[in-house]
Amino acid sequence: MSKNKNLSKETRTIHSGYDPSEYYGIVNAPVVRTSTIIYKDLAAYESPDTKFRYGRYTTPLVENFCSGLTELENGYASLVASSGLSAITTALMAFLKTGDHVLLVDSLYPPARFFANRVLTKMGIEVEYYDPKIGAGIEKLVKDNTAVIYMESPGSATYDVQDVPAIVKVAKKYDIITMLDNSWASGVFYNPLDHGVNLSILSVTKYINGHSDAMLGAVVADSEKIFKQLQKCARDLGVCAGSEEVSLSLRGLKTIHIRMKEAGERALVVAKWLEKSKHISRVYHPALPSHPSHKLWKRDFSGCNGLITIVLKPYEREAVRQFIEGMEIFAIGSSWGGYESLMQPQYMEQYRSAVKWEEKGFVLRLQIGFEDPKDLIADLEQAMGCLK
Ligand SMILES: *Cc1c(COP(=O)(O)O)cnc(C)c1O
Repeated sequence: MSKNKNLSKETRTIHSGYDPSEYYGIVNAPVVRTSTIIYKDLAAYESPDTKFRYGRYTTPLVENFCSGLTELENGYASLVASSGLSAITTALMAFLKTGDHVLLVDSLYPPARFFANRVLTKMGIEVEYYDPKIGAGIEKLVKDNTAVIYMESPGSATYDVQDVPAIVKVAKKYDIITMLDNSWASGVFYNPLDHGVNLSILSVTKYINGHSDAMLGAVVADSEKIFKQLQKCARDLGVCAGSEEVSLSLRGLKTIHIRMKEAGERALVVAKWLEKSKHISRVYHPALPSHPSHKLWKRDFSGCNGLITIVLKPYEREAVRQFIEGMEIFAIGSSWGGYESLMQPQYMEQYRSAVKWEEKGFVLRLQIGFEDPKDLIADLEQAMGCLK
């Protein structure tokens, strides 16, 4: 079924990888827990064609999940890692070596910046950040040793959309590998490989899993050559994922299209309300026409997720504390893409270097969950009572 490209991506994602008739008609792929895989004879052990060799390499469960991801992202093949961050570091390690130069978007996921600054530099790799608005101007930053351009679109916290086709055009001219952290769209609202990007990176922990109960990451490659290089590095590093996490995420993958669409619609209701609040100086959500990347977002994306970032007017620290702690539904917590609403403080000046963060107020990222938006707005409104 998954081979039929006439079917829509939603249909292919749901039905790929596993055929119930292979296993007593049971509708869900069996959860496979194993380290050891028994070979029937010496020839099978020695044959390079034996697919299942050891739990760390791959299992039928991992293959089922990966084939769904590959359909979701229109890729060649996928690889799983124990977290989104592990997927990022594996992709970077696979395509960088000592003496190379890497260009990373300034609004990347902060722990990816810490990895680049602390680990890549220690390996003798030159790390440079670029303005997310750079577009074709990235050509000016390309050096003889530039090996990778790393994008995250929309970027973390401010949701800056990069002009991917313009950046990819420059990368292809100089034979530079491109990768994009696609966790925000999670393969539903955007597919970077369709636009010439070599690797799409996913924090499966977020919308794909969707229920805040597992950590998982993945990388989807555009071709056999890219996949082989990625897979070799992952094997050298011992990158793999647990069966529980993979099976929970395989379940999430079946409903991701409806969950993300719904989350985006609900978040837009809240974002529009926040934009009118006198306590807030700025609302970041790419579906709002006031967002700096709104035009690019409309050009490239088919929807919006449940994330909103707000900048409060410059209130005293104590008022900010009361506001945050006064919320009853929104809890302070990391992550997003689950069923529950969360908020997380963002210390922007620490995460940006190419473009200095100038706004003065306290920054909070909201994850809009599946509670009734009316209740969420009422919660924000009552907590704002302390902002004076
Ligand atoms: C959370 C996140 C990651 C990391 O994913 P984990 O599964 O938490 O390791 C990577 N990129 C983005 C954009 C994220 O928000």
